[in-house]
Amino acid sequence: MKLDNSHYHLEKSKTLKNLQINSYWNCDHSDSSGCKARLITTAVDNSRHRIIERKGNHSHEVSSITASVKRAGLLLASRSRNAAERAIDIVSDTRTSVPIVVQQSLPESNSLKRRVHRN
Ligand SMILES: [Zn+2]
Repeated sequence: MKLDNSHYHLEKSKTLKNLQINSYWNCDHSDSSGCKARLITTAVDNSRHRIIERKGNHSHEVSSITASVKRAGLLLASRSRNAAERAIDIVSDTRTSVPIVVQQSLPESNSLKRRVHRN
């Protein structure tokens, strides 16, 4: 899925009749710029969401997520040097520490785990 380069914050979550949990996201600039861009996602599991609907367009320049993906990679690398931590925890924390659109731009968890080098 092609993702745009924007950041969103959670507005609310709602459990639907079929027990699917949908989350509604507003652009980080919804207050400051009156931006109307919205996302609706559904939970895949506790830490991952899938975008199911995209509404509106950004009314402002959107910043690149490339820097965030790079930062997440650096975080992963620095924590990998701490042998006391489990690879699975490092990967999980890395994924949940970044905005949702960045999460979806990160490599798959198994691929991230392989980047946690262990002796
Ligand atoms: Zn926006």
